[in-house]
Amino acid sequence: MAGIMSGKRGLIMGVANDRSLAWGIAKAVADQGGEIAFSFQGEALEKRVRPLAESLGVARLYECDVTDMASMDAMFEALKTEWGTIDFLVHAIGFSDKNELRGMYVDTSLENFLLTMNVSVYSFTAVAQRAIKLMPNGGSLLTLSYYGAEKVIPHYNVMGVAKSALETSVKYLAMDLGPQNVRVNAISAGPIKTLAASGIGDFRYILKWNEYNSPLRRNVTIEDVGGAGAYLLSDLASGVTGEIHHVDAGYNVIGMKAEDAPDI
Ligand code: NAD
Repeated sequence: MAGIMSGKRGLIMGVANDRSLAWGIAKAVADQGGEIAFSFQGEALEKRVRPLAESLGVARLYECDVTDMASMDAMFEALKTEWGTIDFLVHAIGFSDKNELRGMYVDTSLENFLLTMNVSVYSFTAVAQRAIKLMPNGGSLLTLSYYGAEKVIPHYNVMGVAKSALETSVKYLAMDLGPQNVRVNAISAGPIKTLAASGIGDFRYILKWNEYNSPLRRNVTIEDVGGAGAYLLSDLASGVTGEIHHVDAGYNVIGMKAEDAPDI
């Protein structure tokens, strides 16, 4: 099918099920004519991801746990053998011990701090190192962030610290890879009920708060994220790099909702 992703192929990492942000991006990329390969974290998730991939006519699926560099190397080696080059990569991966996604940030353990930073931050740099070798004519790398990187969100804790580091990685990678015409961006998505989000304390309250207080007076969907993702991966965004693009129904621009102002 013709579309803004026609003639482009790439890897989408982070589909766990049909509620995943990565799945929203995959659907939009496929709709716009792009060719996709998926990675999944382990056998248990393969059962979920394979039928989804097949529904988009995707045959290439690779197992990759981002804490295991050998599995990452094997995946990129396989991609190189099968496709030679790629045009885009989506990194929609994050993890932290859910026991530390409630209560206070001050209680974060060293072990979970390092694990969270490894899976949620360093892995983007690790995949970038490998992906650029398959992008001789340039390309587009995309990761997913959240407003908890910028402001304190209750219970988001160490994940907020990780997202700040991830957003800063986006900027440094954009500078490093710009001369090779590889663009690096992030979508800062509003809260969406997914498997990963279910680990965050009081997530339903966060959803309600965003719905009531954002300019669009609603929460975003994986389709909203998918549309913006397809744009950032496509040549329509050829001049955009190092960008943290909010897809959050406008929530991030609000200082205080007018209706909430007391009479003074
Ligand atoms: P999800 O649970 O559907 O996806 C998370 C993915 O991370 C899963 O596919 C999981 O397999 C993968 N993952 C975790 N550890 C991994 C590892 N060691 N190796 C390989 N893969 C691993 O949830 P989601 O909400 O779609 O999350 C995708 C991204 O979007 C995350 O970075 C998340 O922080 C971000 N995000 C989510 C929201 C939200 O509200 N859901 C908002 C903003 C940003």
